[in-house]
Amino acid sequence: MLTFVQEFFIMKKIYKFLLNKLPRPLLIRLSYIFKFFAPLLYKGNKVECPVCERKFSKFLSYGSDVAHRENVLCPYDLTLERHRLMWLYLKNESDFFTKKLEVLHIAPEQCFYTKFKKQKNLTYLTGDLVSPLADIRFDLHLIPLEDNRFDVVFCNHVLEHVDDAMQCMKELFRVLKPGGWGIMQVPQDFDRFETYEDKSITSPVEREKHFWQKDHVRLFGMDYPKWLEKAGFEVQEYNPTLKFSSEFIEKKRLIPREILYIARKL
Ligand SMILES: [Zn+2]
Repeated sequence: MLTFVQEFFIMKKIYKFLLNKLPRPLLIRLSYIFKFFAPLLYKGNKVECPVCERKFSKFLSYGSDVAHRENVLCPYDLTLERHRLMWLYLKNESDFFTKKLEVLHIAPEQCFYTKFKKQKNLTYLTGDLVSPLADIRFDLHLIPLEDNRFDVVFCNHVLEHVDDAMQCMKELFRVLKPGGWGIMQVPQDFDRFETYEDKSITSPVEREKHFWQKDHVRLFGMDYPKWLEKAGFEVQEYNPTLKFSSEFIEKKRLIPREILYIARKL
């Protein structure tokens, strides 16, 4: 017979295994199971997720072999560092939760989707090439929507996958109203100045080696905000180290070097 403690550790192992091995879309479909077990298995107050506003003993590890990180995935609503950073910006620095806004969310992240959809102040439209969460399906190279329509666009972790990132950025710029703003975060190599693209690298194995993931076609460097500017945006930087103490950054498990770019259409 297993003792309660042994059962607890076995459960924890299974939980960790599933979170790391299952593809993210499946994880998201099973999220109600995680929401039930997480508070039991990771009881504590060492880390805190600002999105679900829950505290845990730790977060879980996440990422492919090339980009593996420890203590980053919220066991409750599956947020990662980048989601928590964006949430803090929206909460602390923007009128996103109060002002009447028309929002376009490309490739909507599950941890935001239900929350944004419930917000009475938003007219919320989602779009994606394939996602079942999307209201409309389209290719980002040619958005089938009118110019100057949206106050806000979100399009995170998409531009590293698309064939022509500049064309997609210009499309996002086009559908924004003058005075509107967007958040279009990408995986960024903080040690690389110039974005790395090589169209001859096509195999999934090689792409993972060069661009961090099997389906990435480029690796953005620190010149990423220059790309946004070239597409027409004025870029403002939200730097966690200038906003928060190192204790806060550690507790919320943010990446100190990760800058959130707010791209404005003037
Ligand atoms: Zn959370």
